[in-house]
Amino acid sequence: MLHVFTNFDGAPPEGRVLRNATNFFAVKAFSETDSEALRLEIGIENDADSPTPIELEINWPSTQFSDLRDCFYWKPERSREWTPVVGQTIPGRSTVKLDIPSGWGLFCLQPRYGVDDLEQYVFRLKSEFLVCDSFGESEYGRQLLLLRIGNPDGKRFLFTARNHPDESAGSFCIEGMVNFLLSADPLAQWARREMSFQFMPMTNPDGVADGMSRYSSPTGADMNRTPDWNRTHRPGYQEDPVLNACFGLYEQLQPHYFINLHSNLLRFEDTICAADVSVLDRFIHFMPDQTEYGKTWTRVVDSMPDTPTGYCVEKFGTIPLLLKLPWFMRNAEIMRETGRKILTSIILSSVQP
Ligand SMILES: [Zn+2]
Repeated sequence: MLHVFTNFDGAPPEGRVLRNATNFFAVKAFSETDSEALRLEIGIENDADSPTPIELEINWPSTQFSDLRDCFYWKPERSREWTPVVGQTIPGRSTVKLDIPSGWGLFCLQPRYGVDDLEQYVFRLKSEFLVCDSFGESEYGRQLLLLRIGNPDGKRFLFTARNHPDESAGSFCIEGMVNFLLSADPLAQWARREMSFQFMPMTNPDGVADGMSRYSSPTGADMNRTPDWNRTHRPGYQEDPVLNACFGLYEQLQPHYFINLHSNLLRFEDTICAADVSVLDRFIHFMPDQTEYGKTWTRVVDSMPDTPTGYCVEKFGTIPLLLKLPWFMRNAEIMRETGRKILTSIILSSVQP
């Protein structure tokens, strides 16, 4: 017998799964916005001894991006890696068939990386080179983590992920960056001695845990915008302590480089956005198109006003980079490796004359 379950962080609220036949389930995906519905995280359990086929019909609250919602990811409980599952899509609806082995697993539009995954990752990291602090608490009592590695007197590099809670790619990238920096690799050893690295691996823990796509809650903040922008552009906006804590930390850190990690569902393009074309060129020199995963860089020159990076450009002369890294043709290990490449490329491009 198959069961679809949603009683975990990141899953849609209760009452959105309907069993239409023994092996056929209709799921109503949740989004707090009308436009961006790019998140689905459900659990599937098979309590039989042998694999059982399941058919899922996923109904989305919007038709925007419908053509991109045909590639999903499946991870059985004992597997460390996600496997892509390709289904079919029509406006507002995706359908998928797959075989569920005995036991349970997670089925997601983008591989799940929850608050619990971050806590377990950080808990397992034991290194004399790492300092882990909390710089505040979210509205629902979740810790805001800051990981620091390197020489506090060196050039300061700040990395942030999960401004947008559905974009799990950034979390996997940061694992790859931190793993590399704590390693015995000669570049990592040199960078630890010469430079200062700060990671804010999850700037929107409430949104991640509560299944949001873009904001921290239905009336909460867009963490990729300034407090002023949220006050003037979000109808019904309620002050978010996390947003204010993040901006307090940006003030304190005054980074030389600010790398803000995002994602989307595009298949064949990675996007890189910087305020200056020479920064783009230098970075791409060290990190060319990842053609092995079907990707070509789309370059955007923009100082990104109203965003955290734009704020730091204006106040501290920070060099900003915003990266959008979609999953298509990548898995978790490849995303960690992509993170490592981003980190080494920004290190190397920063020391070029
Ligand atoms: Zn984003």
